[in-house]
Amino acid sequence: MDPAGQLCYTDAYARSVEARVVAIDDADGVARVVLDRTVFYPGGGGQPSDRGVILRAADGRAWTVTAAKKAGGDIVHELEAGEDGLPAVGDVVSADLDWARRFALMRTHTALHTLCGVVWRDYNALVTGGNMEPGAGRMDFEFERMSGDLVDEIEAKVNAELAAGREVRVNVLPRDEAFAIPDLIRTKINLLPPGIDVIRTIEIVGLDLQADGGTHVGNTREVGGIKVTGYESKGRINKRIRLQLVDPAE
Ligand SMILES: [Zn+2]
Repeated sequence: MDPAGQLCYTDAYARSVEARVVAIDDADGVARVVLDRTVFYPGGGGQPSDRGVILRAADGRAWTVTAAKKAGGDIVHELEAGEDGLPAVGDVVSADLDWARRFALMRTHTALHTLCGVVWRDYNALVTGGNMEPGAGRMDFEFERMSGDLVDEIEAKVNAELAAGREVRVNVLPRDEAFAIPDLIRTKINLLPPGIDVIRTIEIVGLDLQADGGTHVGNTREVGGIKVTGYESKGRINKRIRLQLVDPAE
């Protein structure tokens, strides 16, 4: 698959695309389909893969996509088990996301980066990892002085940044250029494998910059608001902060 056909990395708002089936494999009981282009995100960086459907143009037949994965440079769509009959190589299909779920993941992912930006700027704590589901997520920090008293303060600061309407930009940089940016070094860019010669970054303008493969909203205002739902100590230094999205009016 041509990397240009992996639309999730360049246009997070593309929810459907017409495509052609280029490969099918159901060797071990899981049907996997490769298309010449797709809007599905294959998972990674704590963001789960998309779900949705593949719809065949000729007869309207639909297959449920339960997950997408990166395999050998391709994005592979896994079909729900027990489907009777498979699409064929050459079929023209439409690849359609479960958009409500994807958009919730975009909002959640941007909320988590906003949290990282606030926690670094105001407390100098480094992020070490994170995970999310649609509408809720967690981030781990090296944050020795994190305490219950700080939760309300952090929540208010994150909500203020979201309401500020900061633009969220996707950039692709040559590796050596990316490695010269201090903000990227702090987010452990050095852990990226040596074979990667371009680095994709997500910038919340004026707040946060990270190497990241995920899908994000275009402006922090689209996130709405968040609530910090808990924090846990994972040791003296390592602290985990949980958040969930709330309606901006709440
Ligand atoms: Zn991320």
